[in-house]
Amino acid sequence: MSGKNLLKRERVAFIQQKLDQLYPETPIPLDHKDPYTLLVAVLLSAQCTDERVNQVTPSLWQLADNPADMAQVPVEKIQEVIRPCGLSPQKSRAISRLSQILVNEYHGQVPENMAALETLPGVGHKTASVVMSQAFGHPAFPVDTHIHRLAQRWGLTSGKNVAQTEKDLKRLFPREHWNKLHLQIIFYGREYCTARGCDGTVCEICTTCYPNRKKPKKTKKA
Ligand code: SF4
Repeated sequence: MSGKNLLKRERVAFIQQKLDQLYPETPIPLDHKDPYTLLVAVLLSAQCTDERVNQVTPSLWQLADNPADMAQVPVEKIQEVIRPCGLSPQKSRAISRLSQILVNEYHGQVPENMAALETLPGVGHKTASVVMSQAFGHPAFPVDTHIHRLAQRWGLTSGKNVAQTEKDLKRLFPREHWNKLHLQIIFYGREYCTARGCDGTVCEICTTCYPNRKKPKKTKKA
């Protein structure tokens, strides 16, 4: 294989074009019906697959699908239902507590505000970013371990940490594409660029961006 490795701005353009071609539509993977049910689903998805979360949430919504009702459900009951998602003691406490806070401090609504979301129990920067993006349509670029890995393999960041990767991606891609790109990169990661089993020389994105890559691209963990 020969040819020149692409410059960063050329890689950005190629990756964007390729992802648009592969994933013109970006349906939200977690089933939900409003910002509250999305917030809870995202919280449940920590260290769990979206598929598993979607299997569990219908039973949870039968118990309660809004902050006022959820605040009345005993934590043990929530824990029992969400057990298949893992980390159920922590997640059930967080769901119960955040529901109480939403009732007491936000009139039972999920705040449309990044800083306020980040203060809720069990809600970190990534979860808050997903809710801002997918529930309210604000530009955000939530970076999980998968996006962190792909951005390094594609030479878009040094991969120092997820905060740096988010900063780099936001700088490289136009703001109006952030919400869509976040999902497109996740879809690509699931379909082609999984955590294991690739030396960075297999598919079109890497062979086009890095035709001279000979050795596996090592990535740093989030
Ligand atoms: S070649 Fe490997 S690292 Fe590059 S995009 Fe494909 S799966 Fe990912």
